[in-house]
Amino acid sequence: PSQTLPEMLTASVRAFGGRPALEFFGAVTTYRQLGEQVDRAAEGLRRLGVQKGDRVALVLPNCPQHVVAFYAVLRLGAIVVEHNPLYTARELRHQFEDHGARFAIVWDKTVDTVAGFPSDLDLERIISVDLTEALPFSKRVALRLPVKKARESRAKLTATPKAKNALPWKKLVDQRRISRRVAGPVLEDTALLQYTSGTTGSPKGAILTHANLRANAMQGRAWVPGLVDGKETFYGVLPLFHAYGMTLCLTFAMSIGAKLVLFPTFDLELVTQAARTSPATFLPAVPPIYDQLARAASRGTIDLSSIRFAISGAMSLPVSTVRAWEDATGGILVEGYGMTESSPVAVGNPMGRTRRPGTVGVPFPSTEIRVVDPADPSVDVPLGERGELLIRGPQVFQGYWGRPGDTAASLLEGDWLRTGDIVEVSSDGFVTIVDRLKELIITGGFNVSPSEVEQVLEAHPDVDAAAVVGLPRLSGGEEVAAAVVLRDGAVFDAGALRDFCRTRLGAYKVPRRITAVDDLPRSLIGKVLRREVRESLLSE
Ligand code: ATP
Ligand code: MG
Repeated sequence: PSQTLPEMLTASVRAFGGRPALEFFGAVTTYRQLGEQVDRAAEGLRRLGVQKGDRVALVLPNCPQHVVAFYAVLRLGAIVVEHNPLYTARELRHQFEDHGARFAIVWDKTVDTVAGFPSDLDLERIISVDLTEALPFSKRVALRLPVKKARESRAKLTATPKAKNALPWKKLVDQRRISRRVAGPVLEDTALLQYTSGTTGSPKGAILTHANLRANAMQGRAWVPGLVDGKETFYGVLPLFHAYGMTLCLTFAMSIGAKLVLFPTFDLELVTQAARTSPATFLPAVPPIYDQLARAASRGTIDLSSIRFAISGAMSLPVSTVRAWEDATGGILVEGYGMTESSPVAVGNPMGRTRRPGTVGVPFPSTEIRVVDPADPSVDVPLGERGELLIRGPQVFQGYWGRPGDTAASLLEGDWLRTGDIVEVSSDGFVTIVDRLKELIITGGFNVSPSEVEQVLEAHPDVDAAAVVGLPRLSGGEEVAAAVVLRDGAVFDAGALRDFCRTRLGAYKVPRRITAVDDLPRSLIGKVLRREVRESLLSE
């Protein structure tokens, strides 16, 4: 049956009632308890005046209340708007101006920031969530982790007395009588405004319906056929406020009756502790996390042999990471590709012997792809040639909130989604991501793919990570420049690195300028922000 997200949860409550749905620092919530908490939170929100179609902002790290709030808002036919709670006040305010939510459910460490927004916003009511309420006292100390990060990243908007008027979550869910007469959502209703990562510009709110999100959870199920309903344990180390974590951790886990172990942030120590008491069987994450975990597993400080399947996305997955992970754990690690606008996954490597590391695999079920000329997306390029990827499928979004121009530019005739990514597709249908169109470097008429140059630099024994960008040249066009992070103990020698590149790359691809840096700027999910690398190299 075609179900909305809350109906999918209800089905799992019926099928797996007594089984754990969530675990947070050892505190378990069963499916039945989760269902009851969602009912109570939905009732509380209804009494506050939340109605079908209203936007309700969630500004929360991963925690049980995040999951309860998500399904409660959806139950009422209202729209969840996700936010990164570690965003600065300015970034958060931009988003609130954009979506105009009337209600916000906010981590108490961020309440002052949200309460300090100018009163001309539509925001009427703030509900404040104390994460420690979900925990036994002995575990509370562990929560200092994300708190510290929040302090570091929060901008200076001062607290206002309004914060004191925030309704505590405890009061919201303290409901004895649950009204059954609520308008529920239908499949075509908007479920979620999910902001893009803001890698190429300011984040845009992608409109995703229940049908979109359900489709991607079901497609995910088909991607990992080895998973057993009611028997799996997922680790939620990716943030739920990003499309990747929302679908591959949350809605996917809830749809197959898995236990989802929530981590407020990725932290090796927290994962090591959890692995002792609640070993994972499935892990969605990103390459830097796999590298770190694989190192720990091969040192013997963590046992990850229970993880049969792992999937990587959001950025390219080096084949060396796949090897390190599989050697250290004995499980399978494959790469997928997608974007917020496609709920997010559209292409994935098969989980079996036909997988092809280095590619992102083949289109998901019910998903079609085309490769077109970026200058004229109505023209397909010949098979095997590079071009821009277009995607069509049930997971493709409805448009950007309040941005008809951007929507028209990315949703073409016939519902084809322009990805902005340059790809190559093999004759048997495997997709290789080359780079983002916007980040290709144009030098004297040639296109340089920054990731190709980064891979070469990263193959050098002295280099830990590299980011390659184009810098404007006085004579017109761009020149290739690189920022590199050196491995411990290595001595920076730009000439030697250039020589290394020269033996592996055409001359026009070799970086003219190589700068050593302490760290690369990364998004919260770990993507290198080339835009920021470029700005900092320019200002030198
Ligand atoms: P914005 O659209 O705001 O600039 P963003 O595109 O980074 O930010 P997301 O929707 O989180 O926001 O990311 C989608 C993008 O991530 C894709 O368009 C692609 O460039 C990149 N990506 C996703 N998966 C992979 C992958 N496996 N390999 C390489 N790049 C990937
Ligand atoms: Mg994008």
